[in-house]
Amino acid sequence: MSSIAISLLDLEADSSQCLLAEDYQTREGKWCAGCGDFGALNAVKRLLAKEQLQPEKMAFVSGIGCSSRFPHYVNAFGFHGIHGRALPIATGLKLARPELDVFVVMGDGDCTSIGAGHWIHATRYNANMTVLLLDNNIYGLTKNQTSPTTPMGYASNTSPRGSVLPPLDPLQTTLGVSNASFVAQTADWVPVHLYATLQAAYAHKGFSFIRILQRCPKFTPDVFADQVKNPDLTELLVHEDGVDAPGLEKLFKARREHDPKNLDEARALAQRTDMLRLGLFFRDDSFPVYDEVRAVSPVSAEEKIDRLNQEFDRYAV
Ligand code: SF4
Repeated sequence: MSSIAISLLDLEADSSQCLLAEDYQTREGKWCAGCGDFGALNAVKRLLAKEQLQPEKMAFVSGIGCSSRFPHYVNAFGFHGIHGRALPIATGLKLARPELDVFVVMGDGDCTSIGAGHWIHATRYNANMTVLLLDNNIYGLTKNQTSPTTPMGYASNTSPRGSVLPPLDPLQTTLGVSNASFVAQTADWVPVHLYATLQAAYAHKGFSFIRILQRCPKFTPDVFADQVKNPDLTELLVHEDGVDAPGLEKLFKARREHDPKNLDEARALAQRTDMLRLGLFFRDDSFPVYDEVRAVSPVSAEEKIDRLNQEFDRYAV
């Protein structure tokens, strides 16, 4: 299942005006009531308003899935791509138009299954973009099919007796890729933390990967239910160089100091436990950024023709 739609939405914002969060939304999101995608969209709108990003200076790229409707709802350039291919599209866009702020939105069925190869290499390329993985542990758009992140034993239409394999862990996978430069986890039901994580990701130069744990009340209502009800099951990673989410001290009492420069500790903390860990696992601003190391000076049309003629002349007889 695939579809391509390029949307050039309302790009006529007056750059002298202060844009509010609602100015970045084009229409109501068509998601089920209670879907965590609404929270992600709200946090993104807040970020765009805080940064006063101009709609014509940014692009949202997605694949296929419930969350991949994102570009239709954001007042920016949008590319609703094909299944699993959001990242190569976004990387190409960033190389061709480095001045654009590029955001990528994918679901778990999209990124971690058919798009897994692209995900690994895009992480290594470390192009400068903000990447949102909305992980609801299921294929929602295709109506309840097991995805790579579905918990073991969880029943779906494709695994009615329950998923038979341990789930793939997006944090551990990303942290295992060389040149991965920013890896964080947050949750749609903790809006303060989600917004703060987006801010940190946007500020980072390189491939900022955020796994957003996303509720799907339609097909996986149980997977995060305990953590939503009981904040004692969540541990916040805190550090002066981490995600600064003020005001959560009273709600989340379990807190752990973690220096996001420490990759070995980040990998250890990404292991599954009964506690859900939210925060910045790893960041290194010194890694090579693909769109910078591959940057070439612009070449005029005349120069291109001249070079082409020189090449043809090599084979002249
Ligand atoms: Fe959201 Fe799940 Fe409904 Fe899709 S199926 S819109 S992920 S609640």
